[in-house]
Amino acid sequence: MDALRALPSVHQVLELAEAQALVAVHGRALVLFAVQRALDEERTTGTIADPAARMARIEALAGELRRPRLRPVINATGVVLHTNLGRAPMASAAAQAAANIAGRYSTLEFDPRTGRRGRRHDLVADLLRYLTGAEAAAVVNNCAAAVLLMLTALAKGKEVIVGRGELVEIGGGFRMPDVMRLSGARLVEVGTTNRTRAEDYAAVITPKTAAILKVHASNFQVVGFTESVEIEALARVARHQGVLLLHDLGSGSLLDTAAYGLAVEPRIQDSLRAGTDLLACSGDKLLGGPQAGLLLGRAEVVDRVMKHPLARAVRIDKLTLAALTATLDLYLTQSMAELPIWNMLGTSADAIAARAQSWQRSLLQRGIAVEVVPTESTVGGGSLPGERLPTSALAITPRPGRAADLLRRLREHEPPVIGRIEQERVLLDPRTVLPGEDDALIDAVVAALA
Ligand SMILES: *Cc1c(COP(=O)(O)O)cnc(C)c1O
Repeated sequence: MDALRALPSVHQVLELAEAQALVAVHGRALVLFAVQRALDEERTTGTIADPAARMARIEALAGELRRPRLRPVINATGVVLHTNLGRAPMASAAAQAAANIAGRYSTLEFDPRTGRRGRRHDLVADLLRYLTGAEAAAVVNNCAAAVLLMLTALAKGKEVIVGRGELVEIGGGFRMPDVMRLSGARLVEVGTTNRTRAEDYAAVITPKTAAILKVHASNFQVVGFTESVEIEALARVARHQGVLLLHDLGSGSLLDTAAYGLAVEPRIQDSLRAGTDLLACSGDKLLGGPQAGLLLGRAEVVDRVMKHPLARAVRIDKLTLAALTATLDLYLTQSMAELPIWNMLGTSADAIAARAQSWQRSLLQRGIAVEVVPTESTVGGGSLPGERLPTSALAITPRPGRAADLLRRLREHEPPVIGRIEQERVLLDPRTVLPGEDDALIDAVVAALA
């Protein structure tokens, strides 16, 4: 207790020259907060810090609050669409477009030709119609919001039929039956986990049925004795019985994944051509753009959905719209090479091996011997489940039992480098490391092994 009497007052500390220097950098309010916090800590622990240690603590506290928690990392996991690392990195044109709009007024909901109010989601509608063949298009905050909105606006108080094998959990607790309940639509399950036929759907349609919902099994595979119904067959059933066919496509590719040596992922335009009335998909999965939810389909249906009050609650932001427009423009001009994720998916195993070997040489020059090993990258992010791409990774073998420790040291580097452990080795996969990040990655490895 006596010792605490030696604790200076907040005012005394704040008047010190070192504290005033911090005020010049961080402002008085933040430094005041840090001083109070540092003195509180000393009071709580009952130990008086020496003045230099106290000032260091104050500086650290102020710095910690100002350090952005959202900052770039180097993704060396080989998972192309890594949800925890921000899914698709955007094309530089998309990032530029968002930056151009960010600090200025814009035509977000204003048509300069007429001087009248416009609708923000119309800004990308023409582009999306052209690229997908949809009669109408709109965008909202993300695909989860698009699905919730679509079910609420079109099926509240009515029944929606879903195949049992498609009652998926997308992740983060987004489960189809829960979303259905939230929308006020009643779920009618048909078929079995592994087999569902068109007759199963037709048999349960009643006057209370609003729609058939097809959900893309984007993050798992059912293998073996399986059968699911093609969009064409579902569209026939829906049209014949006068109900809507909705499609939650999730990953939403405009490109033919098979041309990249990957499994076939249904494309947006294929689903629409097959007769889907309304389709929902993500902007930041295989489209390679910003987080967004695309709604594409028949004009009357899109219109009904976007007039629902919930559309206002899930509306898209102007930065996203700018980035999405620029992303779609790359598809328009067939500049796929500008889209980071398609670049990563399309890089040959040989090119990746060459890059891993160049890292190996750089490290050897700094006295560090590592191996290059063949392994596999994955697509991730609820796209192409089970799909693996042959790759080569840098393999660092630490002392026995220290792989997790090395992984942590890489993660704590600035910028953090995220790798993975395989057989007691830390693997760094060049596939997902962006051009221009090589030197930073090498520095991180050198520092982590020091
Ligand atoms: C990923 C996914 C969603 C959710 O998309 P977000 O853009 O993350 O909201 C919904 N449905 C399916 C089938 C998905 O794959």
